[in-house]
Amino acid sequence: MSKVKVRRADLKPGEVLCTYCTARCCRYFALPIETPTTWGDFDHMRWYIMHGRTAIFVDGGTWFLLVFGDCQNLLEDNRCGIYHTRPEICGAYSTDNCEYDNDGCYDKFFESPDQIWEYAEAVLPPKPQPRKKAGAANLPALPVLS
Ligand code: SF4
Ligand code: SF4
Repeated sequence: MSKVKVRRADLKPGEVLCTYCTARCCRYFALPIETPTTWGDFDHMRWYIMHGRTAIFVDGGTWFLLVFGDCQNLLEDNRCGIYHTRPEICGAYSTDNCEYDNDGCYDKFFESPDQIWEYAEAVLPPKPQPRKKAGAANLPALPVLS
């Protein structure tokens, strides 16, 4: 397996781009998620990212949860260990628009809970504060001693 990075345009007839790749497409998966519109939605996203090795990105108006992790079938030489029985989603994937030479730029990219929250603060109306009951004193609750 060659380590030399070649440009797509320089591939010779019969050559396969994956031969020159470190299997970038086998080292993560991304799932489309609902476009967040409420504080609750953004709070869920904050929670996703708190788990580590995750990120959220927006591409073409669609929001995605990105989970980093090498496929368990990936071999040390970057080939698929179950090529002939690999999942349909892998078989259907093509090098035509793959991330081989992708610069990793998205419309939006969030990799920390704080980034998600700052974005929510910028696009949502102020978060409603919990209402105080009439006459309730603004004091912290104390434990009851017997
Ligand atoms: S499909 Fe693209 S990203 Fe995946 S291994 Fe082949 S060249 Fe690399
Ligand atoms: S099954 Fe094979 S082609 Fe599919 S992600 Fe895993 S290593 Fe890559």
